[in-house]
Amino acid sequence: MANPSLLILAGDGIGPEVMNEVKRIIDWFGAKRDLAFDVSEDLVGGAAYDKHGVPLHDDTMAKAQSVDAVLLGAVGGPAYDNLDFSVKPERGLLRLRKEMDLFANLRPAQCFDALADFSSLKKDIVAGLDIMIVRELTSGVYFGEPRGIHMEDNMRVGINTQRYTEAEIERGARAAFELAMKRNKKLCSMEKANVMESGILWRDVVTEVHRDYPEVALSHMYADNGAMQLVRAPKQFDVIYTDNLFGDILSDCAAMLTGSLGMLPSASLGLPMANGRPKAMYEPVHGSAPDIAGQGKANPIACILSFAMALRYSFDQGAEADRLEAAIETVLADGARTADLMGPEGGVPLSTTQMGDAILTA
Ligand code: ATP
Ligand code: MG
Repeated sequence: MANPSLLILAGDGIGPEVMNEVKRIIDWFGAKRDLAFDVSEDLVGGAAYDKHGVPLHDDTMAKAQSVDAVLLGAVGGPAYDNLDFSVKPERGLLRLRKEMDLFANLRPAQCFDALADFSSLKKDIVAGLDIMIVRELTSGVYFGEPRGIHMEDNMRVGINTQRYTEAEIERGARAAFELAMKRNKKLCSMEKANVMESGILWRDVVTEVHRDYPEVALSHMYADNGAMQLVRAPKQFDVIYTDNLFGDILSDCAAMLTGSLGMLPSASLGLPMANGRPKAMYEPVHGSAPDIAGQGKANPIACILSFAMALRYSFDQGAEADRLEAAIETVLADGARTADLMGPEGGVPLSTTQMGDAILTA
């Protein structure tokens, strides 16, 4: 059988720096675990603009459509701030998401024990936390029509429309249930069915999809209560499925349970391809971090954890993903810290490459 294929788009700023560590880990899997990937690399964002005058070349788009998974670093930077909107680096990312139709955005909030003190919450609330928020990414109030600012009775009125079809709710729900099956078979769906029609439909459709996943324990929660519970007792959750707007807010909340932006991976999944794997793009939550780019001090862990998600959700290598996460846990427990993970007490931080070395040898 052919090796699974992976397209690496390192992008701009710290993107190439953190991706370099991932490439070394991919090589390690090939050499030490007999798990080889067909890796190709291409440009996205400002790097693509510099070469092609567009933030994503058509050939790159075609490649992204044909591989098993895309691994992306970060895009953008001050050098591109004054570009025309249509060629801004971020447009490259949006084009990938749109044309690959990546409708399920997976944002884990995972707290490594060694960093529990570093989190913004009390240690016993977050130690050992491992939850996953699935946010619907292509519909809802961000896209619904009508929208705009209109004049009514000599007054300006701002309008957005929350609109969901049952097909949109269903495909995201299937992705969430599939995920729950690969994790702990527990799913909480969040909406506001008490005040929103789309919430009533959401609850109905999720309940219908549940019939195909009877092994999963399903619960429903109003999203405002969900926000409270997420901060009060986040470990009660495993997978959370919610809409585009609530997901935006809830996933940022959940992210801050765990500490640094340099630790947070994400995945965006689409429909299954002919080989049964979902279309997929994996990327760290952080941006190109122009303030520290080129200095070799970025934390590569978010990008490495994004690759771990690819192992688990695109390549059916859950045990290898566990192994990689355990290596990260070990080096953190041994005290390895990049600058972003250091408290006021200070110390000498590891460089990006030194953190990569530590994980490779753990
Ligand atoms: P974007 O608009 O692309 O999200 P941003 O400026 O809002 O960009 P980031 O680029 O993620 O967000 O940077 C936010 C802050 O977090 C910066 O101070 C940056 O240095 C820091 N940061 C982000 N990623 C990392 C990382 N991997 N390691 C260390 N620090 C990081
Ligand atoms: Mg930002």
